[in-house]
Parts: sequence; C-alpha cells; structure tokens
Amino acid sequence: MSQSHSFDLESRLETREEGGLRRDLTPADRVGPEGRFAPDPQGSLPSYGPRELVFAANDYLGLAGDDRVRDAAERVARDVGTGAGASRLVTGDTGPHRSLERSLAATKRVDRALVFSSGYAANVGTIAALDPAVVFSDEYNHASVVDGCRLSRAETVVYDHCDPADLRRKLDACDVDGPWLVVTDSVFSMDGDVAPLSEICDAAEEHGAWVMVDEAHATGLYEDGGGIVQRDGLDDRVQVQMGTLSKALASQGGYVAGSDALVEHLLNTARSFVFSTGLAPPAAAAAREALRVASETDRADRLWSHVARLREGLTEMGYELWGTTQILPVVVGDRGDALDLADAVRERGVVAPAIRPPTVPEGTSRLRVAPMATHTDEDVEMCLRAFREAGREVGLL
Ligand code: PMP
Repeated sequence: MSQSHSFDLESRLETREEGGLRRDLTPADRVGPEGRFAPDPQGSLPSYGPRELVFAANDYLGLAGDDRVRDAAERVARDVGTGAGASRLVTGDTGPHRSLERSLAATKRVDRALVFSSGYAANVGTIAALDPAVVFSDEYNHASVVDGCRLSRAETVVYDHCDPADLRRKLDACDVDGPWLVVTDSVFSMDGDVAPLSEICDAAEEHGAWVMVDEAHATGLYEDGGGIVQRDGLDDRVQVQMGTLSKALASQGGYVAGSDALVEHLLNTARSFVFSTGLAPPAAAAAREALRVASETDRADRLWSHVARLREGLTEMGYELWGTTQILPVVVGDRGDALDLADAVRERGVVAPAIRPPTVPEGTSRLRVAPMATHTDEDVEMCLRAFREAGREVGLL
C-alpha cells in the first residue's frame, strides 16, 4: 500500500494536549456593560457564574454596552443593512464607512484613514502592500504584525523589546537597498508597557526609514480619543498609524491612518482590503459613535483612576506588577502558580486570566488584569480583596 497522505489532526491535537497547549472556547456568557458576566439571552451554553466581575476584557471604556453606541449600530442596520454585501471597491462602500474614516483621520490628525474588516487584516494587508525591503520589528509585536512581515517576504530584523539602542544598532548594520519599515505596537498587550516612540522615530529618521505603529490597545484612550502617537505629539513623524476598532472602540474592524498617498496605495493594493467584503456598516457606525463618546474625558478618567488604585493596592500587597498602562500584568513566574492564583481569584468572583508560555516567555507567567471604565470603585476593591485572599491561599503572599 502506498504511503498515506491524509491529515492526522487527532494526533496533532493530542500533542497539543500533552504540551498543555490545547485551547477551548469559553462558555458563551458575555461581558455586560458594567464589566460583569451577564447571561447571553441567545447563548446556547448554560450561563456560568453568578455575575462574576470581569477584569479580562479589551472593551476598556465599557462602550460595547453603551446605549448611544448600540443605537448607532441599530439605526444603520435598519437604514443601510447588516452587511456591506461586497468589497468596498465594488458595491460595498457606504456612508457609515466614509464618516468613520473621516472621524478617524481627524482623531489621528492625518489626511485620511481606511477601514479593514479586522485589525489583523489591516496589519497583514498593509505591511505586505507597502512591500518593504526590510522590516525592523519589536520582538513582542502582535502576531498580525509578524504575519504581515512574513507575507511581505521582506527581510525581517527583530530588535529587542522596546530597545531603541538595539534598533539603532540594527539599522546601522543594515546595507539592504530599498524602503525600510520600523514597526512597533504602542501599548503591548501582555506587558502593558509603552514603546519609546519618540526615540524609535529618531532612529528611523536617521536612515529615512518609515515608522508604523499598531495602536490596538491605545486607540480611544488618549488625547481626544487618539492613541500614544497623539499623546506624544508624533502625528507627523509616524507615517503609518494602525489600530483596531475592536477594543476601546467596542466594535469590530481595523484601520490605517496616514497620508492621502498611503490610503490611495492601500485601497488599490492591500489584498486583505481589495479581496475582502467591506466592514459591516453597523460595525462602522458603532465605532464612529464610540470614537465620539471615547473623547468624553470623564470616561477615560474613571479608567485611569481604577488603574492607579489597582496598581497601588496590588503592589502594596507584595505582587510584582509590570507595565504603565490600563493593562496590569501581575507577574508570578511559574505557570502552575499562575493557574492556581487565577482559579483562587475566580472562586472569589473575579475573572483575570492566567497568561502562560508560549504566549509569554518561560518564567514570566502572569495574570492579566484589565479594568473597565464602567467598573465601580467597589468592584475595584472587590478585585483587590480577591487578590489578597487568593494570594494567601495559594502561598504567593
Ligand atoms: N494588533 C494588536 C496589538 C492586537 O492586540 C490585536 C488584537 N488582539 C490586533 C492587532 C488584531 O486586531 P483585531 O482583533 O481587530 O483583528
């Protein structure tokens, strides 16, 4: 008999299982507007947990349940339709897309913006369409940036995390002709730290290289709903601002903002834009309204006050906290300890997921604590109490 050429997926899954890498979908409760699990009236799985507090969502401003955002999506679903029906370049271009793009361009203080069906699609499509000769990429950049580099077939030079000196060394050592792209996340999703963008721009400018910044975890949270690029006043030094509509903007989709020429180039050549159905119009409308509401300062202020209280409280207890943003990694080191702590915290009604290798380096397993603006001060105190009691119970404090 000739050799089999079929796919043995069962054994691949078993290998994952043995390595502790097998994942599963979480039961279908959804995170309600006030930052607690709420039963999903249309969910097929049994509701789990009595309204646990969720410190695990990327809906940082709690806008996914905001009535203004919901109404905007609902109106457009009725008036325009639920789906774009085709690529934007064919018949899928609608008013809500255009007004969202105008709002994004204004927030990002650039000529134009272009929305994609996800942040993932924005990254892979944009990096590949830029067709760089070399990409210099932070070692902790998001998977969609990594995949964009692969798809572009550019030579990819990985520099040490948030280390402009290492970036500069690698730029200096490179002798490849053609356009160079330096790409970094602004806020890193697992470490909660911020890239030193100004120094990265300095290094790139010495070589005439372009800078692309992924603002997925920053968009909506800084200056008038902008990101770190706006906070640091780097609008005219970052040629490609990218982000997602799916985190603080409480919707779905991704965007790229920059010059007129950049947007024209992408809408002609980014394959994930050209050959993919336009973003669903209600998602565009929701993101636009969320962007408007995000610039209400008291909402972001509530988030930052929760962040400060959690950082102070957890540090005082003796936990090791990393980062400087709304993402608070409580680093415990050992993967088993992280799982035990997450379980013990959850037994106390608080959800904060354990993040383990290979998502993070060996020996840095952590709980990723992410508050929402819609949590109350009492919710934050409950989270702190859960961490104090759980830490003692599992012997980490
Ligand atoms: N970039 C970063 C830094 C992200 O964290 C994510 C989402 N996890 C993405 C891009 C992809 O965005 P989306 O979820 O909209 O595809």
